[in-house]
Amino acid sequence: MQALREMPMPISWPLPVSELKPALDLTVAALHADMGVVLLRDARPDTSGSLVPVISVGLTDAQCAEVGTSRLGANPFLTAIADRRRIVFRDAWSSNDGVAVLARQIGFRGLEILPLCSVVAGQGDGMGAFVVMYRKRRGTNTRSVHLVECCAQIVVSAIFHARLHVAAEQATRDAEANARARADLVARMSHELRTPLQSIVGYIDLLRLDGAEPLTPTQALLLGRVRTSEQVLASVINDLIVFSQLEAGHVTYKLESVPAHEAMMLAQTVVAPLATERGVGLAIIACPTDTLAVADREKLTQVLVNLAANGVKFTRPGGTVELRCVADRDAVRFLVSDTGDGIPPERLADIFEPYVRLDTPRAGRVDGSGLGLAISREFAGAMGGELSVRSVVGQGSVFTLALRRASVDAPADAARARRITPVAEQHRAAS
Ligand code: ADP
Repeated sequence: MQALREMPMPISWPLPVSELKPALDLTVAALHADMGVVLLRDARPDTSGSLVPVISVGLTDAQCAEVGTSRLGANPFLTAIADRRRIVFRDAWSSNDGVAVLARQIGFRGLEILPLCSVVAGQGDGMGAFVVMYRKRRGTNTRSVHLVECCAQIVVSAIFHARLHVAAEQATRDAEANARARADLVARMSHELRTPLQSIVGYIDLLRLDGAEPLTPTQALLLGRVRTSEQVLASVINDLIVFSQLEAGHVTYKLESVPAHEAMMLAQTVVAPLATERGVGLAIIACPTDTLAVADREKLTQVLVNLAANGVKFTRPGGTVELRCVADRDAVRFLVSDTGDGIPPERLADIFEPYVRLDTPRAGRVDGSGLGLAISREFAGAMGGELSVRSVVGQGSVFTLALRRASVDAPADAARARRITPVAEQHRAAS
């Protein structure tokens, strides 16, 4: 086997050049050629598709650099690639273009150019060419040519898929960078908004509690509305901050055994004022007092508060929201059901996506960030559980948070290893 020479790679190419070595070896050997070179088309926009010799056999670096340059006038290498056809010079010396000069310089007479083009349209058109040279004039062996063409096809396919892979990796990197930049912006903006908001709350409270100059009933009413709006804004900002922390991977979880009824009661206490204000009943229907869930206490409460608050927000006055907890050997399930308008089946998956808010014409305008469920599902997953929903339009919705059950005398870590029954099964059991 002849010595193989690898050129420094001047273009960004998806495959290491050394991986083309066996293909060039095979081509030179199959055609009984004396020299060979792989030319690749430089795909960068500013190079106007020039051909670069990347690997050669039987040629010096200087000779290799001569091949494929555009100084040839009607460049047969570019022609072979553009026309997707093999070009053969049986006696290059008798050719009256630049090929003869090249042939004498390098010392070959026969020349064959095999374009690297895919048989599949659009897959790797005109990537480059295999060029083989013979010291003497040569005829062509059709069987060998077919073999070499098959080899070229394999190379094209490998390069094409390597390109796709590189492009996909780049797209992922770009998307990650965009997501990071967006999360960073949201985080900074949210923090900036929170500070003046806190000062607004301070002044509202000052006005309300100022005994020296009591407010008129109208002023008190209007100020109450300002305070409500402030609370909505604060909650949206809070969601934005939590979500950007989640996106940046800055949220930590302290998993422990948390009494289920404690978390339920806390959630009820937090959401009760909203329920009263909206004329919606809110009650804990059932929850065993000795059931422990593997959870981060604070995150569990946040999820239950979000689900219960959603239930209240999307249920019209006179309706009800019920909190329930059921447990089996391995899992604890928190169910939050409401008698609201329900969610169309085709939108059930969407509502867990960030910033998605559905039109709720019958419930009227409802405040929110569209992030609560995205955050809740993320929390549920990080605690080793699952958040799901079933809903019937016109009847209401049931959100189920399934977490692993912690046994009374085993630490939370032991429970972490257990698997929980799929939530879908529990839905059937609960209905
Ligand atoms: P937010 O409530 O802040 O808008 P969420 O992520 O909590 O954001 O909810 C996303 C959307 O899912 C809501 O805007 C609403 O359209 C729908 N949704 C959530 N919970 C319910 C529910 N209990 N009943 C009807 N629709 C709901």
